[in-house]
Amino acid sequence: CRVVCKAHKVAILPGDGIGPEIMDQALRVLTTAGKAEGAEFEFTRALVGGAAIDATGNPLPKETLDICKASDSVLLAAIGGYKWDTLPAEQRPERGLLGLRAGLNAFANLRPAIVPPQLADSSPLKREIVEGVDILIVRELVGGIYFGQPRGFGTNDKGERIGFNTDVYSEPEVERIARVAFEAAQKRQKRLCSVEKSNVLEVSQLWKEVVIRVAKDYPDVELSHMYIDNAAMQLLRNPKFFDVVVTGNIFGDILSDEASMLAGSLGMLPSASISGDGPGIFEPVHGSAPDIAGQDIANPLAMVLSAAMMCRYDLKLPKVADRLETAVNSALDQGWRTKDLWKEGTNLVKCSEMGDILVKLVA
Ligand code: ATP
Ligand code: MG
Repeated sequence: CRVVCKAHKVAILPGDGIGPEIMDQALRVLTTAGKAEGAEFEFTRALVGGAAIDATGNPLPKETLDICKASDSVLLAAIGGYKWDTLPAEQRPERGLLGLRAGLNAFANLRPAIVPPQLADSSPLKREIVEGVDILIVRELVGGIYFGQPRGFGTNDKGERIGFNTDVYSEPEVERIARVAFEAAQKRQKRLCSVEKSNVLEVSQLWKEVVIRVAKDYPDVELSHMYIDNAAMQLLRNPKFFDVVVTGNIFGDILSDEASMLAGSLGMLPSASISGDGPGIFEPVHGSAPDIAGQDIANPLAMVLSAAMMCRYDLKLPKVADRLETAVNSALDQGWRTKDLWKEGTNLVKCSEMGDILVKLVA
């Protein structure tokens, strides 16, 4: 009765734009899939982003962070929109997300790049290159050159103006992100590629040493190493080489956007920002799409796949995750498409209709 008796506590942050619409569908589907596997959820809704600014003046009210911290996991839809674009940067809706990541110490960003065979033709790359691609990029999110000190502007010894940043990682910072990546690899194809630039950078030499040391604890995972420039090339030339990729903040920023283009469609990609212990944040890669908000035409699949990631990584409900992912695949197999993915010969459905279809498929 362990699973049935303990409801999984999930903080629900619908946010802005299409956020509430896709969240509604994802929660219906998640609840039904959970029931089928004997898992229950306790959802607590909270405000974040523009919705929170309108209600409280603050993109991340303390109450929201408290609810998130008291939950097993956080499911977030999307943040931002035209309405708040004129606010100064430090009062913008996006600050809510940065505050949430910091508040939950979410140091690992997980971005799958999956190309379902049914959508392989929407990719800008050839079908035979992308069909069957299933990559997980694990990016370090709170360290490296984006945060390293010293940083700033100054003058060199010739009196010329300079800008500078510092790429720095400590051994514990590398070790904790490496462990997240090895553990993810254990749940997948058991291949991990560590991406760095150790032929030029000391910070990368340390990265590589630590990853090799941590690998001893995961003998079932096959580890490889690649320089960032080569990795950027291989991601387009032979993306099927990769299973899990682990890399630092700036390389991961670039590689995960590059990898998202393999799929050719924003509406399909989930992501997670996790801390290894404590609740993680699970959200679609796409934004709040204010241009189509309120019309019931958004694609809810990235949101549903984000809920699947949450079940796999935070709630330890792999069977519920499988159910959600299989349902998304079946819906595509059956030819159902929201407007963003619609092509001649497929069936156009609204956001809520896609929800209806998935509810039936996961039951
Ligand atoms: P952000 O800055 O929040 O990341 P963005 O400017 O990158 O936002 P998105 O909100 O992701 O942009 O939207 C980019 C385009 O993709 C828009 O035309 C939007 O309508 C479309 N889009 C994004 N997500 C979806 C979705 N789930 N379903 C359908 N269309 C979408
Ligand atoms: Mg964007």
